[in-house]
Amino acid sequence: MSLEKQFKELLIQVKSLNGEHFNLKLIKDAWNFAKLAHTGQKRYSGEPYVIHALETAKILTSWRLDTTTIIAGILHDTVEDGAAEVEDIETSFGKEVAALVDGATKVSHIKLRSSVEEEFVENLRKMFLAMAKDLRVIFVKLADRLHNVRTLSYVPKDNQKRIAQETLEIYVPLADRLSMGNVKGELEDLAFVYLYPNDYKKVLKLSQLHYRKGDARIEKMKHTILKVLAQEKVVAKVVGRKKRLYSLWRKLERPDIEWDFSKVHDIVALRVIVNTVNDCYTALGIVHRHFKLVPKIGISDFIAQPKPNGYQSIHTKVFGPGGGVVEVQIRTNDMHEQAEHGIAAHWGLSALKSTGELDSKGIDEGKWIINKDKFSWVRQLAEWQKEISDSKEFLNAVKFDALSERIFVFSPKGDVFDLPINSTPLDFAATVHTDLLNMVKAAKADGKMVPLEYKLKSGQVVEVVKDKHPKPPSRDWLEFVVTTQARREIMKKLKKQGKI
Ligand code: MN
Repeated sequence: MSLEKQFKELLIQVKSLNGEHFNLKLIKDAWNFAKLAHTGQKRYSGEPYVIHALETAKILTSWRLDTTTIIAGILHDTVEDGAAEVEDIETSFGKEVAALVDGATKVSHIKLRSSVEEEFVENLRKMFLAMAKDLRVIFVKLADRLHNVRTLSYVPKDNQKRIAQETLEIYVPLADRLSMGNVKGELEDLAFVYLYPNDYKKVLKLSQLHYRKGDARIEKMKHTILKVLAQEKVVAKVVGRKKRLYSLWRKLERPDIEWDFSKVHDIVALRVIVNTVNDCYTALGIVHRHFKLVPKIGISDFIAQPKPNGYQSIHTKVFGPGGGVVEVQIRTNDMHEQAEHGIAAHWGLSALKSTGELDSKGIDEGKWIINKDKFSWVRQLAEWQKEISDSKEFLNAVKFDALSERIFVFSPKGDVFDLPINSTPLDFAATVHTDLLNMVKAAKADGKMVPLEYKLKSGQVVEVVKDKHPKPPSRDWLEFVVTTQARREIMKKLKKQGKI
């Protein structure tokens, strides 16, 4: 297909979304600009380089982002790899686009005389800083990365592993925290192939039979559920979903599973998508009336209590026809949209605009989204990048705190706190209030006393038993706290005491 034909596809895609809000003329200008800047350049695949820019823009369009972001997608490599300067972009496309392209551009090699790891951290710092000013930078980076790993097979072998590793360590958790489930899943599966080729082949081979069996089972259930839902006048879509390979592998590797497929209950799941939250609970009742709930492991209500990244659905495990366990996931259309595309689709520009949370002045200033509480972690990342000069410490803060897997726990009053996995009551205390670290006498989880190094679990109610007299933190605490906030706070207090 000719280049121009492929570009036409982007225009068609843009128009089909919401024509009047998009500036097609400016998108065409960006295309011509990018072609010029990348003249003569080729990808490892042998294709003209500018195809990568186009594919990045197509991905951004599929996430329903605005003209500015789509244009930044087309231009994102014109400075780093092409012949353009940020100033040229600003002249032709304005400050916003220029800032996005600059944010997505790596620190130039000339400025860096450092190791590969330090260079990597410098680039992370730059990206997080840009992200805190305008979250759309991260959409451009994610779309760029997605196309890069989709075409990873053409890249020289030495680079494949490094790119796959970086994808799993940085971009997957970013997509997760932005609740972009689809992107997270695709990035994981693509990285899996290059990082753990043997495990990949093994899971691929062993899972086929189980996918087939699961499919047959849910096909039967689907008919029953659809019929009863129709009788109760609930409009619903019922679809099967296959567990992705990487996520299946991670589960199989768990010590409580040990590659026993019969213990993985969600290899295939049945998804019931309805219009309203009320319909969700009606559907749940119907499922439980017709299929027996599996005792103990049965039901999780992530509608009443969303996951830390905002994920909402009801998950229930029932005995399907013939006896095997089947997971049923019930959610509204909105929740589904949000789970698949996350913030890009749901809290996009138009949504914020229509709720009046944001005016065009705010958008011009790049303030959109970032002011919401949900994204305080983005601001936190930007602050750390200012405060933490040591690159190892910064990388740890990123990997083991900001971008680590999350748990959520409750205060005795019922407030929810979102913490990295393996957090202790001390991490909880530091998150609630830094001064609380001066009062810790003991801790309780779900009403029972636990040691201070206890690893909290999602859903627990955590209580700090306070000492009447403030006392400084103990040095030993540094051995087991996991949050950067707790670590830095303890260090600060110890230093004040002259203890370190
Ligand atoms: Mn790129």
